[in-house]
Amino acid sequence: MRIGYGWDSHEFKSGVPLRIGGVEVPHPKGLAGHSDGDVLLHAITDALLGAVAAGDIGTFFPPTDPHWKGADSAVFIAEASRRVAGAGFRIVNLDSTLILSEPKIGPLAHKIQKRVAELLGIDAGAVGIKAKTPEGMGTENAAIAHVVVLLERKPER
Ligand code: MG
Repeated sequence: MRIGYGWDSHEFKSGVPLRIGGVEVPHPKGLAGHSDGDVLLHAITDALLGAVAAGDIGTFFPPTDPHWKGADSAVFIAEASRRVAGAGFRIVNLDSTLILSEPKIGPLAHKIQKRVAELLGIDAGAVGIKAKTPEGMGTENAAIAHVVVLLERKPER
């Protein structure tokens, strides 16, 4: 078994689309970033890479590389999934907590859960999506994501 942990934050900015967990969320502000700013997919990518000691998202997708400008973060998830499979592991389950003042994630959680499960090729029941507001943290203009993932060795064929 392996455990992986990932964390990411992005700042809210007017005029960019908001994407969380591969889902486009209607909101006046989006998350600024070199890629599509999907804070949840970035934290998942780091959790997967960390679980197999394969570095982090910046190792594979340096923000200095113009190729990744505006990139769909599903690409990062796909690469991390390849690394996990290549190391002989598969995902048991994943849990996440988003910290943001708005929009409310509750009504979107099911959609995000389904999309993340689809991107990872696992059951939706193995994907935890939780959200909190940043009470007293002073991070109202940012979205933060924490992710843990559990891997098990793939059965020998
Ligand atoms: Mg990021």
